[in-house]
Amino acid sequence: MSEANAADVVAAVRAWLAANWNADLSLLEWRTQLADSGWGMPHWPTQWHGRGLPVKLLPAINDEFVKIGAVGAAATGPRILASVTLLEHASDAIKGRFLRRIITGEDGWCQLFSEPGSGSDLAGATTRADFDGKEWIVNGQKVWNTSAHHADYGLLVARTDWDAPKHQGLTYFVLDMRQSGVQVLPLKQMNGHASFNQVFFTDAKIPADWIVGAKNAGWGVAMTTLAHERRPATGVAGASPDGREGRAYAQAREEIEIANEPYRWYPQRAGRVDLALPRAKETGAWHDPVIRQEIAKLLTLSRCTNWMARRAAAAQRIGKPQGPEGSLGKLAGSNVARQASHVHTLISGADAMLTGKDGPHEGIIAEILVSVPATSIAGGTDEIQRNIIGERVLGLPKDPRADTGPFRDIPRNA
Ligand SMILES: Cc1cc2nc3c(=O)[nH]c(=O)nc-3n(C[C@H](O)[C@H](O)[C@H](O)COP(=O)(O)OP(=O)(O)OC[C@H]3O[C@@H](n4cnc5c(N)ncnc54)[C@H](O)[C@@H]3O)c2cc1C
Repeated sequence: MSEANAADVVAAVRAWLAANWNADLSLLEWRTQLADSGWGMPHWPTQWHGRGLPVKLLPAINDEFVKIGAVGAAATGPRILASVTLLEHASDAIKGRFLRRIITGEDGWCQLFSEPGSGSDLAGATTRADFDGKEWIVNGQKVWNTSAHHADYGLLVARTDWDAPKHQGLTYFVLDMRQSGVQVLPLKQMNGHASFNQVFFTDAKIPADWIVGAKNAGWGVAMTTLAHERRPATGVAGASPDGREGRAYAQAREEIEIANEPYRWYPQRAGRVDLALPRAKETGAWHDPVIRQEIAKLLTLSRCTNWMARRAAAAQRIGKPQGPEGSLGKLAGSNVARQASHVHTLISGADAMLTGKDGPHEGIIAEILVSVPATSIAGGTDEIQRNIIGERVLGLPKDPRADTGPFRDIPRNA
């Protein structure tokens, strides 16, 4: 899109917001207008509640929302993952049923991939889905499922062919979480939060055609979800509802309180680089040359990682397919978080272990130390990112495989 057209788009969204934004609407009424107009997800196709605009225009469109104080479309991680996956692979019937409700926030989603015996080895999933002639019957267990306790629907990878090689016997489904065959049990983490769950399926049911992509072609669809987890697509978040009056703001605050609760510790998980220098000054630790050196290392790493993220975002804006920068960025993020955790430990000393309001920075430092390890695990571990970079980017030889042939013959834990 040319610069002139970009200016036209900004003028169009500004005029539309001026004519339609009203903080006294309910959140659902407002977001229904966003879905009808295409301004909630302007980068989605026009057929599916978008305006078919390039992703690179999203920041400028978002600025207009912020200027007028309009809240944006509903967007939390799992909803975004669901929408990108459905847009790319689902039938029109599934898109028609779910996409609009993702924008309005009527449905919450979760990702049902990992299992006790298959996290990194996602293709080894043993949760099964069997077709009984009318619908799919699901049995098995998933684990580490963020937000499953709030979700209405799950993105499920399940085995549908035990005689095919392991990557070729998986199917990607949409599963209704609000049914008696689905049991969600929260897990408490060492940082005190409970954002994940175990999810058990006992004869859970899925309608015959709630398949995303084709039967037994779920691996490729799961790769789309994971690629976006490593390089998330942005949406129009709009203005923060904090401290503002109006029905839409009040309901947006409520929504954030509930939907964002599992993600409250995510800034700490990333290491809180922003706190390093202020805390070094505040505590006097910056007089120590070793600590200064470690802070310089942290800020350098962090700056370089931001540049890499900007390169990835630029590639996304010009419509380039997902490349190695997703894995590189994820690995770099882990290194930054670990170095930040190290720096916070150096600055606070043994006090860093004090939790709660009496601990340094009201317990935030302790929360950083016990949250950072998650960065190296979520969305694919550091070792898996290194394997991807080694094999797909550097062209190194792959590990010899002992898991070819029919899945049912591959040795695995019971
Ligand atoms: C914050 C967070 C949120 C998450 N949210 C979700 C979610 O919403 N939905 C979901 O389904 N899952 C979720 N997960 C789970 C996550 O995807 C898995 O934890 C991750 O894929 C690793 O799998 P695992 O825990 O089974 O570890 P394992 O796969 O058992 O790995 C154990 C160790 O072995 C190493 N390892 C494994 N295979 C190899 C290999 N081939 N080469 C070298 N080293 C290897 C790993 O790097 C790791 O150090 C989440 C995890 C976290 C931390």
